Amino acid sequence: TYVVTDACIRCKYMDCVEVCPVDCFYEGDNMLVINPSECIDCGVCEPECPAEAILPDTESGLEKWLELNNTFANQW
Ligand code: SF4
Repeated sequence: TYVVTDACIRCKYMDCVEVCPVDCFYEGDNMLVINPSECIDCGVCEPECPAEAILPDTESGLEKWLELNNTFANQW
């Protein structure tokens, strides 16, 4: 899955939402998040993010963000 990180906080771009083929972006408190159980790992959103806030969860140190994405995505 891909994960939205802190560079997204208060970012106003929505480019990622528009390109995601499975609509798995959700609104968190002050950032967007990806629902890890819906993301199909296509990678299309990563280069579209002007804030470079989207990273694959295979990168190290993203456990906290993955958990936060999952929590916010499932609060609705
Ligand atoms: Fe959507 Fe693909 Fe990005 Fe996952 S990797 S959030 S499916 S655009």
